[in-house]
Order: sequence, then structure tokens, then C-alpha cells
Amino acid sequence: MAEAIRQQTYTIYPIIQPGIYPTLKTINFYLIRRPEGLALIDAGVDTDDCMERFEDTLKQAGADIRDLDAILLTHHHEDHVGLVPRILEKRDIPVYAHRDAVPRLRLDREFLEMRLAFFKQLYIEMGGGDRGAERFTKMEETIRNSAQNALRTEIIEIGEGDRLFGFEVIETPGHSPDSITFLDAAGRVAFTGDVLIDGSSVNAIIDPAANGSRLPSVSQQRRSLERLVNLGADVLYTGHHEPIRNTAGLVRDRISRMDRKCEKLLGLIGSGITVPAKLTETYYKDLYRTQFPLVMSEIIGHLDYLEEQGKISKSMEDGVWHYKLA
Ligand SMILES: [Zn+2]
Repeated sequence: MAEAIRQQTYTIYPIIQPGIYPTLKTINFYLIRRPEGLALIDAGVDTDDCMERFEDTLKQAGADIRDLDAILLTHHHEDHVGLVPRILEKRDIPVYAHRDAVPRLRLDREFLEMRLAFFKQLYIEMGGGDRGAERFTKMEETIRNSAQNALRTEIIEIGEGDRLFGFEVIETPGHSPDSITFLDAAGRVAFTGDVLIDGSSVNAIIDPAANGSRLPSVSQQRRSLERLVNLGADVLYTGHHEPIRNTAGLVRDRISRMDRKCEKLLGLIGSGITVPAKLTETYYKDLYRTQFPLVMSEIIGHLDYLEEQGKISKSMEDGVWHYKLA
């Protein structure tokens, strides 16, 4: 069990679940004990093992699941919300999340249909061809089969500047549209979800906004990383791996990686590769086959970013976007 971390007015009990993903060593969530109550920041994965770890940590805090007052979510991904249904079964407490997390957690039908239409069109227009169509079919199956995972509880929407449980909400989108950071009142400690992870790259994942338009994930992610530096917190407690103390250094590294990716892409476009799917295949080689949605997302995000800066422009030919240097 991880050691409790005492702050001036509250105590943090980290819950560290060994990773179930090959690239992430741990999944972290945090029990927060304040004189006025007990809250959970994120909720791990939906496994018996993780539930046991959570219950052990409650004991460590001298508490019981019936003492829990609220669940605060940094974003909607499954490795951050896994235990929410199990906890709500035992105790009916409010769940707080960013407004963009709500349709993604509730799996609203209208939202899912919009999202499916978005990806279908995206893969076609980005030149995904047969591979894109095949990946879309898989995605459609997964999404349609996931309806039973819908969170059927009231979610209280929070956003920039809201204060709850001694924390201020800071919007830090990019990794996902609904990513938020909880900054403690003293400004010394922040809970940042997956915006920045020590020892792992964070992908800015392409996703549609509520109106179906594509969000500028890479420029959002850059701004969010810069915001994390500007918070000036001593420690970031993250959704995976060790807490971060050298935020500025890590952010510099992540931003220079983005810049290098942009430079490499400009080179490929300059060499005459114009279609995003072809750029992705050339850039990522085998991963184009095995990790299609993820690597397409990376390249499209960076293309959007380059376009936003006026470095490239695009035109449509036969229903497929072609990019060229501006
Ligand atoms: Zn995530």
C-alpha cells in the first residue's frame, strides 16, 4: 500500500494499481481526506483487484465506503472511471466531471451516432481506404457493444474556475476534450489525470466536439502543458506512474517532441506525400497496421496544428484531403 501524503489541511492516499496496459506501469487514483469529508479523484479500473485495493486504502484512512462523499473525475477514459458503478452500488454519492465527459460517460445514443459518423467520414477523407473502412467496422462493433457500460447516474458538470472540495478546476483538454486538473487551494499540489505522464508519451486523441466538429487536439494539448507549468505547483499527481516534480523540464521535452514531429511531417509533405493515411504509414510503418486509430489520430492532430500555424494547406480531390506546404 502506498504511504499517505499529509498536506496542511488534508491527506492524500494514493491508490496505485499495477498497470494492465503494456505501456503503462501503474494506474493511479487518489483518496482525499479532509476534515469536512472524503472524496475520490478518479476511480481506477473495473476489476476485483482494483476494488480490493480501494477498500484497503479506505481502511488505511480509517474510513469505510459509506464515508465517501464524492467522486471527482479528471476525464472519462475507462482506466479512470472503472470503479464508479461498483462504488455507486454501495453508496449513492455525486459524481463530478467536465461537461464534455457527460455524453461520453452516459454513452448517449445521439452522441454515439454523431461520433460514429465523424470517424467514418474522417477515415475516408484522410485516405484510409480499405484499412480505414475495416477499422471503422471494428470501432462500430465496439461502440455498439459498449452500451451496457453506460454510467446511469447523475453527473454534476464542472468547468474552469469551479471550486469544490478545496480544489479549483482547471480545464486542460487535449489528451481528451474533457480533461481537467484539480489544483488545491494552496496551489502546491495538482491532480492532472493524463495530461502529462512521467516516462510515457501522452497522445492528443482526435475527437469531435459536441457539434461534430474536429477539436484541435494538438494545439489544445500544447496549451494545457504550458498551463501545467504556469500553475507553479510543486507536485503533480498523475493518472499513471510517479508524481511529477520537474514539470517545466518534462513539458519542455514533450513540446520539443511535438516540434520534431511537425518538422518530420513537413519534410514528408515536402517530399511529395500528400495524403494523411500515406503520411501516417510512412511515419509509423508497422504501427499503421496494428494501431491505426491511434497513429492516424497523432498525424491528423499534427496536420491540424501545422495548418493552424499557416505552414501547410489542404485541398480535396476525389473525396480525399491532400496537404501541401504553404
Ligand atoms: Zn486517459
